Amino acid sequence: MEIKAIKLKLSQYCTVYQAELLAIQKATEEIGKIRTPTFAIFSDSMAALQTIQNPNALHPLAVQTRENLHDLSLQGKVVILFWIKAHAGLKGNERADHLAKEAALKSKRRPDYDQCPISFVKRSIRTETLEEWNTRYAAGDTASVTKIFFPNAKTAYRVVRKFNATRLTTQILTGHGGFSEYLHRFKCKASPSCICDPGIDENVNHLLFECPVFGRIRSELECELEMEINSGTAEIIMQSKKREKFLTYCSRITEMVTNRNKTS
Ligand SMILES: [Zn+2]
Repeated sequence: MEIKAIKLKLSQYCTVYQAELLAIQKATEEIGKIRTPTFAIFSDSMAALQTIQNPNALHPLAVQTRENLHDLSLQGKVVILFWIKAHAGLKGNERADHLAKEAALKSKRRPDYDQCPISFVKRSIRTETLEEWNTRYAAGDTASVTKIFFPNAKTAYRVVRKFNATRLTTQILTGHGGFSEYLHRFKCKASPSCICDPGIDENVNHLLFECPVFGRIRSELECELEMEINSGTAEIIMQSKKREKFLTYCSRITEMVTNRNKTS
């Protein structure tokens, strides 16, 4: 028999886990107000129940709940916590789910609980640092080659972890490698030019997108990917499923060029 129903609202950023803990904590508070000797609390959250049961778990809601339970036992009240299966058609559980949905969707009042979870703090800090990194990256004069592939640091952060970096891909994405222009800059090679034209510098941009020496394999890849390969499309390719084939193409050219420059 339902004698009372309570709906609680949590802030947008709170987790389901916090909501489950809050519900149990609130239940222990309500028990203190009722003159009955024996109580049962039913929750479908195993995680929340285990946290409350574990004396080493220091979540503030769990600590508060344990204190409440201790006080209740001093008052001679017996409180037993039960785990029940969710979405199994149990009447009380269905009713609680329904009330929870109502509170989440319809309630316009201020949250009853607004402590933000650590996961939220971590995510916020990560977002902010990425934002700051991106601003410095975009404003800086360095990394001009990397910017061909990743004009945006936030995209780079997301995409770079999706493929395996090799000695070749690292040279391509940074421009720091066995390319004539780079070698020449550090006085490791007499001329910065490409073998295709003494007037053109051999760098990543030229090799991947312009050099006629690789014209055939470039157009083969363009047919396969069904798009043009140039300094404007590289960033789009890097974010797409076409990335692996493109990186294979880049690696192949870099392998050939760096070998060529080793012997010359
Ligand atoms: Zn060339």
